Amino acid sequence: MSDTLEALESQRSQFLEEFLGLGDLRPGSITAVVRRCGKPSCHCAKPNDPGHDPQFRLTRRVGGKTVTESFPSPATLRKAQQEVTEFHRFQKLSEDLVSVNEKICALRPVERQHGGWTDQEKKRLLQSIRKSRGK
Ligand SMILES: [Zn+2]
Repeated sequence: MSDTLEALESQRSQFLEEFLGLGDLRPGSITAVVRRCGKPSCHCAKPNDPGHDPQFRLTRRVGGKTVTESFPSPATLRKAQQEVTEFHRFQKLSEDLVSVNEKICALRPVERQHGGWTDQEKKRLLQSIRKSRGK
């Protein structure tokens, strides 16, 4: 596989374009917590019982603390799942963007050090920044 600078730059443009396609996103991980009602007579009090319907929670770290959110309805859970999935897409894209940039940096000739992003990329980025400010 021979990556040319040109091919890598066009890959980078693609990644940047994908950033613009991201939807609502937020960090956190969704976990299912087995629910036990606490009544000693209930089946859920027995060892190895699966308990009641699991409760879904989203946890995330905020300023060093774990914040937990629970969902009042399946619809709110689905919404949060989508947002978290989108966040993972964002993370993956960021990694891809950094790795393609590393390759570009390695290939970029010294005399073009100030080159950086292509005009097309800059324009696209500026447009996206303006778009998100306008919201
Ligand atoms: Zn119970």
